[in-house]
Amino acid sequence: MLRLPRQSCSSKVLSSCLQRPYRQARIRSLASHVRQWTPDDFGPLTDIEKIMVNSIKATGPLSFATYMQLCLSHPTHGYYMNPQHAVFGTRGDFTTSPEISQVFGELLAVWLLERWMNSAPSQPFRIIELGPGRGTLMDDMLRVFRQFPASRAKLTNVHLVETSPAMRALQESKLKHIVHESSPGIAWHDALDDIPRSPDTYTMVVAHEFLDALPVHLIEKTSHGWHEVLIALSQDQSVRYTMPTAQTTENVLHGDSRKSASKPQAVSSRWTPVLSPTPTAMSTLLGNLSPRFANLPVGSRIEVSGTVVKTARSIAELIMQDSVGGSALVVDYGAEHATGNSLRVGCRVLSQHKIVDIFHRPGECDITANVDFALLKESLGHDGIVTSLGTLRQGEFLKRLGVQLRVASLIRTAPTMERKKAIEDDVSRLVDPLGMGGQYAVLGITSEKKGDQGFWPFLDVEHNNNV
Ligand code: SAH
Repeated sequence: MLRLPRQSCSSKVLSSCLQRPYRQARIRSLASHVRQWTPDDFGPLTDIEKIMVNSIKATGPLSFATYMQLCLSHPTHGYYMNPQHAVFGTRGDFTTSPEISQVFGELLAVWLLERWMNSAPSQPFRIIELGPGRGTLMDDMLRVFRQFPASRAKLTNVHLVETSPAMRALQESKLKHIVHESSPGIAWHDALDDIPRSPDTYTMVVAHEFLDALPVHLIEKTSHGWHEVLIALSQDQSVRYTMPTAQTTENVLHGDSRKSASKPQAVSSRWTPVLSPTPTAMSTLLGNLSPRFANLPVGSRIEVSGTVVKTARSIAELIMQDSVGGSALVVDYGAEHATGNSLRVGCRVLSQHKIVDIFHRPGECDITANVDFALLKESLGHDGIVTSLGTLRQGEFLKRLGVQLRVASLIRTAPTMERKKAIEDDVSRLVDPLGMGGQYAVLGITSEKKGDQGFWPFLDVEHNNNV
């Protein structure tokens, strides 16, 4: 069932916004005002904010997708691009499952190995990771591949899709033990589509907390079609786009808590969301991406990522391109429905791991949005070429894969009582249904055709989906 965003644009407001002059005229008046714009009360502009001001000056309000892209991936000032940012770990802005426990990566590797052994055990295989962060997940997976003689000799290549040179350096340092070996070979790519075809090789793909960093557009349904929610300067009196209601603004700006349940710690009002006066090409395209969106009532607001759709299709093509096939695991925040208020910022600076305003220090914080796994599955299945499995909640997925057995074995060999307790506590975090175990969904994808039995551990999910 879809969760519906709150009503945000009354028909009265809508009709008045539709009567206003065309966008071009508004952009001109906005541009002339922005030229006179002087520093406000909200502190110094970040480098990304300077770019935003210039961009608005040239072409008018920005989409949320452009905002996310600038904040995260601007070549020099983007959050992931700047080596000064301590992104991961207890001293960084957030921590992720592979950083918490080695068991996470080990069990993902076991599932992928199982699929390979089931469908093409005599063929070589390769592993592709999207957004590998510090390289910890890949390191844990490679350890598993090396442990089994059957897989040790069959792994040909490791492909890492990573745009950030700073992150690439971290990954190289973590994986240097294989960087200097001739086999498997390791290669970095800017995009999934840059990965070469590899006939006769089974392809494994893993994407953990990657899709939630891809840009989303925020669109709102009106009685005249889908409009786009854009970002303008709040002190710009010349902006005559419809302002969202206070209720919806609250939802859009603050969203759900990603890392904690705390309220936003800092609120900036330099930037404000505004509604485009007419449908845009992008809002119309995205609003029609899924038949589910057609059933949403007027006033619904949803985050939709065309980049996630494209990534899903690229994964399906990679898995299916050669006769040997492949499989993939996608693990991320989200569920099988769209959301309209999940955009959030994770930033340690000033906030001590609490969630802050979406416009807090642009470029200096992480920004994510929940993944609509239903859209992901629709995108994978549009040619009916791959089989999607699940989703399962992370906690359930790990339990079914035998996380307790693995933990017991690690605890047995741990040298101290402190270490034993730490191992147990860490894994409890990964499976806790009220924490990471419940917030993350796991989607399996395989080139194999589903029989009556389905595939372990997604066996009964289609009938008893707990997402
Ligand atoms: N999977 C890791 C890191 C998640 S953070 C973990 O779970 O620990 C997101 C990662 O994706 C970072 O390495 C970031 O640099 C990378 N990234 C973000 N956007 C990207 C894009 N468009 N293309 C490739 N990599 C990207």
